Amino acid sequence: MAAIAVRNLSKEYAGGVRALDGLDLEVADGEFFALLGPSGCGKTTLLRTIAGLEIPTSGTVSLGERDVTRLPPGRRDVAMVFQDYALFPHMDVADNIAYPLRIQRVGRQDRRGRAAEVAAGLGLRDLLARRPAQLSGGQQQRVALARAIAAHPAVFLFDEPLSNLDARLRLEARSFLKRLQRDLGVTTVFVTHDQAEALALADRIAVMSAGRITQIGTPRTVFQRPATPFVASFIGSTPMNLLPAVLSGDRLTAAGTAFPAPPGVSGEAEVQYGVRPEYLDFSAEPLPEAFEGEVAVVEHLGTSDLVTLAVPGTPGVRVVVPEGVDPAPGTRAWARPHPARGLVYES
Ligand code: ADP
Ligand code: MG
Repeated sequence: MAAIAVRNLSKEYAGGVRALDGLDLEVADGEFFALLGPSGCGKTTLLRTIAGLEIPTSGTVSLGERDVTRLPPGRRDVAMVFQDYALFPHMDVADNIAYPLRIQRVGRQDRRGRAAEVAAGLGLRDLLARRPAQLSGGQQQRVALARAIAAHPAVFLFDEPLSNLDARLRLEARSFLKRLQRDLGVTTVFVTHDQAEALALADRIAVMSAGRITQIGTPRTVFQRPATPFVASFIGSTPMNLLPAVLSGDRLTAAGTAFPAPPGVSGEAEVQYGVRPEYLDFSAEPLPEAFEGEVAVVEHLGTSDLVTLAVPGTPGVRVVVPEGVDPAPGTRAWARPHPARGLVYES
């Protein structure tokens, strides 16, 4: 097992694309660490640089006590699982799983034995003689995982390994992966653009944007205390409301409605006010200190509805409403933010 330390890492591709921009990161030994960010922010580049598949333009990568910046991938003791699994089409499942052992010059007998053991643990025992093309997406994904596990690496690097699975299988694979990582205790960096996946899996999350890390914290911290409006809008199953507002003393005014600022926030400034749709009370009767508008859209989320109120001076105020309330589009309604749950950003 090993901790990972990335220092001042930059990567510029030919053509001048700066994929990583002076990035610093530390992952603790045994930690399940998620890298979350929109497409193109540099997640894959960072992972490939840790793996040794990309050489950084500047900066260093250390695994445990070793500076591995100049080491080839095969000498880093890491195993990477790619988004498309990258299985060898001409090899059967057993040989695919045993491949890293062959590279490590483990003898054929031992190789087959270890591959069979890992395969059994992942429910692949009956598939050892098949080729990748004869497997479902979920089975291929498990073969790719088995190959990583069989290598007994100090570090797992996962690049969106669940993104090619359908929704149901993806949830199953997610729980499976979480249990597996906990049992093996292998330091893991898991890349995803799916905030729900990151929140569900990780001990800590780094939110990335344009080759840099915007915030690092526990799932709870990045959800409850997003450091910037970008993180706020990126995390959460329903997008955060972000409204221009004026702070005056310990009161805020947004869209013509005045209400208390969050505890500890005061001053005189133009700000951005953020509040999650889950943290507004909805009412079909007038409420004080509430946004008033017309019910524009009702989206069913299962056990609740996401209602968008057309509030003049805003792009719309979203509020999560418990099932059974059934707001009617076109009617007037009120949404009152919970003062303690609001977030205030410099604008
Ligand atoms: P992500 O995995 O977050 O989607 P990537 O690391 O794949 O992001 O890409 C980061 C940026 O680097 C993007 O602008 C992408 O187009 C660019 N990029 C990635 N790989 C290469 C490459 N081999 N050559 C040139 N540009 C690249
Ligand atoms: Mg990527």
